[in-house]
Amino acid sequence: MVYDVIIAGAGPVGLFLACELRLAKVSVLVLEKSEDPHSPLKQLPFGMRGLWGPSIEAFYRRGLLERMAPPPRAEGAPGQPRPGSIGSGAPLRGPAGHFAGIQFDYRNIDSSRWTYRLPGPADTQFGSEMEQLERVLSAHALSLGVEIQRGHGVEGFEHSSDDVTVRAGGQRFHARFLVGCDGARSTVRKQAGFEFVGTEPEFTGYSIQVDIADPSILPLGRHYTPTGMYTQWQPGFIGMADFDGGAFHRTEPMTREHVQAVLRRVSCTDVTLDALHVASTWTDRAHQATTYRKGRVLLAGDSAHIHSPLGGQGLNLGFGDALNLGWKLAATIRGEAPDGLLDSYTTERHPIGARVLDWSRAQVSLMRPSQHSRALEAIVRDLIETRDGATYFAERVWGATLRYDLGEDHPLVGRSCPDFELEDGTRLGTLLRDGTGLLLDFGHEASLQALDGLWGDRVRYVAHDAKDRLGLRALLVRPDGFVAWASDTIPRPEEVTRAASRWFGTRDH
Ligand SMILES: Cc1cc2nc3c(=O)[nH]c(=O)nc-3n(C[C@H](O)[C@H](O)[C@H](O)COP(=O)(O)OP(=O)(O)OC[C@H]3O[C@@H](n4cnc5c(N)ncnc54)[C@H](O)[C@@H]3O)c2cc1C
Repeated sequence: MVYDVIIAGAGPVGLFLACELRLAKVSVLVLEKSEDPHSPLKQLPFGMRGLWGPSIEAFYRRGLLERMAPPPRAEGAPGQPRPGSIGSGAPLRGPAGHFAGIQFDYRNIDSSRWTYRLPGPADTQFGSEMEQLERVLSAHALSLGVEIQRGHGVEGFEHSSDDVTVRAGGQRFHARFLVGCDGARSTVRKQAGFEFVGTEPEFTGYSIQVDIADPSILPLGRHYTPTGMYTQWQPGFIGMADFDGGAFHRTEPMTREHVQAVLRRVSCTDVTLDALHVASTWTDRAHQATTYRKGRVLLAGDSAHIHSPLGGQGLNLGFGDALNLGWKLAATIRGEAPDGLLDSYTTERHPIGARVLDWSRAQVSLMRPSQHSRALEAIVRDLIETRDGATYFAERVWGATLRYDLGEDHPLVGRSCPDFELEDGTRLGTLLRDGTGLLLDFGHEASLQALDGLWGDRVRYVAHDAKDRLGLRALLVRPDGFVAWASDTIPRPEEVTRAASRWFGTRDH
């Protein structure tokens, strides 16, 4: 059998991409190296992953949001994901996010500046457990007809201008496209020869679960010291950064003695560890593929970009890649894609990735155990307390103002579409569930009605007014929920035709 797409890696990004591709009715095989989807590092508290606005919106629009949200726990319990409204819901107080551990507060955020936001079910933020995310996405992928083969690590592949042959688990699989979602050390990226450039690490980060002989020695919370940084989320669950240039990462066995020595050094205490239960390391190496496509081979998620987990944006970046790539790759396979559609995946996603890498680098600068960094920290603390500062940090951390440069003037073009509620009560999020594009005609314009059906099932024409139309008369929304064209005045059909042809290809009639 020749699959339309083989995805290497059943991590969260590979699974979400598989769902997006199946939604567009192309055949998908996911090959996953590991037999067992479970790991303590995917479970709370280490497996906690903060989700930003665009990811939450994407899950809402695909009907997955409720299953992604964390199970209810006692208020304020350690590791508790904190839901919160970022639109015009009830005012919230307390920590809303952080930059290098410096928190900004809900009460300082001026979300009224985000002109094109509307309150709705996705107007929230929370963290979710990695294992839960993978479980939900895996079940959803299977229900859509994705084939997943575990214990089949991709070992290599050959690709021509027509197809790709993949070697995995002693078998050969054939497909029209291969997407590497196989994480930071991606085999696909290395074998296809993608250039992967960036900055080298300054520290080794540790995530550990330990028994501490005298817990009173090590206070909870995040602490910068003259020799490093550590965070104790709950007793015995610790993250720490040792500024060794990343030297220890993956080079030596992780013993209790070593971890204790590092913890003593970075905490400036004589803490004693009775036992080491879980330990893993990571670094702040920040690299990015210079392109996300080479012919029939593409990259998404950590295989395309790596950076430290500081600020928790890597997974969100990967979900955004999958959302952007899925419909474009499917349209290419179905022969419907206009010229350049698949290459717009790199054009749109690469700058977003580069920005996130820089965001993580900026946090490293502030974390260094130096007097210069403490001075910088003091300034950031002052700024983050202000309304402008908190709003700026919220925009960056939540992805609230994420925008692709689509070369159009209207300020909404390139942004995620607001969650309009139509006069019949339908919300935009529900209209996007099946992954088709939308032509929203709030003003029932006769000129737009004439375009109904011209792009077949690729664009659905919806003529309903919205309860709050934010001054708009009509807009064209891509399957990923981003606005391709918008008009505040009487729309000109030729503009819509031009925009629809750019994203959805030639008309059916
Ligand atoms: C401590 C920590 C905290 C983090 N916190 C956050 C956060 O709060 N928010 C956030 O957005 N991000 C966070 N991240 C980053 C986030 O976890 C990653 O960006 C995300 O897991 C990337 O997903 P992925 O699917 O691209 O890769 P992975 O999750 O690495 O999945 C890759 C999959 O591919 C498989 N694989 C590997 N090689 C092969 C092969 N050759 N063939 C087939 N399969 C293969 C692997 O087994 C794995 O299942 C954090 C990371 C860490 C380490």
